Amino acid sequence: MGKKKRIGLIAHDYRKRDLIDWADYNRDKLMEHELYGTGTTGGMIAKQLGLPVHTFMSGPLGGDLQIGAAIAESKLDILIFFWDPLQAQPHDVDVKALLRIAVVYNIPLACDRSSADFLISSELMDKEYDRFVVDYGERLKSLKVEE
Ligand code: PGA
Repeated sequence: MGKKKRIGLIAHDYRKRDLIDWADYNRDKLMEHELYGTGTTGGMIAKQLGLPVHTFMSGPLGGDLQIGAAIAESKLDILIFFWDPLQAQPHDVDVKALLRIAVVYNIPLACDRSSADFLISSELMDKEYDRFVVDYGERLKSLKVEE
């Protein structure tokens, strides 16, 4: 990934305030990067903080899956995802798929404010970084049943 990072921002409803506060606190740092978000979260950050955010569809309507696809296509470098640990979501399966794909592609992932603080203050934020991706192709081949 390049020096300018493409950062995905998502928060479930009860975590949106938290993410917006965090983004506000880190506004200057975030301005140096390219921001993406699910419909409502991205829209709120753009409106309340005046930051440019490319928005996907709303999370429950496919936005989480769009963000997941962007990760798989190497179009997103980092994910800040404040999911709600106290409430089931109608799109829980999409949430799980997104968290899974973030790990498959080994992108930096923060799901709470402390992790997001550590991530945004890493010196790697302003440097190029070679992300290691496991060759799952080989692993999948070894799992195939011989014909
Ligand atoms: P939203 O989606 O930003 O459109 O509310 C968040 C989510 O994935 O639940």
